[in-house]
Amino acid sequence: MFMHNKRLQYTVRVAEPNPALASLLLEQFGGPDGELAAAMRYFTQGLGELDPGRKDLLLDIATEELSHLEVIGSIVAMLNQGVKAQLSEAAMEEADLYMAINSGGNSHTQSLLYGGGPALTNSSGVPWTAAYVDTKGDPTCDLRSNIAAESRAKVVYERLINITDDPGIKEALGFLMTREIAHQKSFEKALYAIENNFPSGKLPGIERFANVYVNSSQGDGDVEGPWNSGDQWDRIDDLDKAAAMDGGDGTAAVKLDKATKTVADNLATRTASDTGADPQTGADLGAGPGAGLVSGDDKGGAKDIKDAAKMADAM
Ligand code: MN
Ligand code: MN
Repeated sequence: MFMHNKRLQYTVRVAEPNPALASLLLEQFGGPDGELAAAMRYFTQGLGELDPGRKDLLLDIATEELSHLEVIGSIVAMLNQGVKAQLSEAAMEEADLYMAINSGGNSHTQSLLYGGGPALTNSSGVPWTAAYVDTKGDPTCDLRSNIAAESRAKVVYERLINITDDPGIKEALGFLMTREIAHQKSFEKALYAIENNFPSGKLPGIERFANVYVNSSQGDGDVEGPWNSGDQWDRIDDLDKAAAMDGGDGTAAVKLDKATKTVADNLATRTASDTGADPQTGADLGAGPGAGLVSGDDKGGAKDIKDAAKMADAM
């Protein structure tokens, strides 16, 4: 069960209203790396977890993330409090009110649609979605994803800290940022407390493909490092050898029953290209200057984009 404590996890002291900053902070309220996404990610993982230690960890952190949601939502509410009151009471002249709610970012949407309360959107007004939660139900997979999620949340907090000079907000955001560092450490420990945590899942990889590095992008800029060279790797630089890596001919085939095969052949015949044809098309008939070569005629072209603009002006 959940219980609610009326005290926040960190004291919120906001110096003055600032709807534009409020709209940026919504990134950590209803954005992909925000607190609701974090809480839902760990909550869903915790409910499905069989291991008692990880279940406990996930539900502890899920619950703490809800407390963070409360802190960031409270900051947003404080930052919007002035404009919320002005808008609700229509206490300002229309023009002044118009200026106040259009102070930047997504602040007009927050004011008009959500009345200045914290909205479950990101900083651009995109509604929160469960698609932000990428739980797979495999502990090593999910823990790796959680580690990445915590590091993303840390970086977003860091950027938000860098754009505000309100000392109370800086302090609260510094707390939230630091808690994500602590969570990342717990998730790393939990991952490495699983023996054989790599690869994820149960099926082992196929040995002859597991150590192969395919140098698929070649040319100037090819760099060698421990990720693609050395004892651990069988490098393929000759890309002919990469197709097909199973040693087969690299074609795709499917077995069809006789009737289906006939229909598929009919479709291929009906839509076949005639490589010997040179049909006259609408492009040929309507060709004007700049069309280049069309059937039987060269309509020329511009030397460059400036020349093209000149040609267009002359038409
Ligand atoms: Mn958090
Ligand atoms: Mn966290």
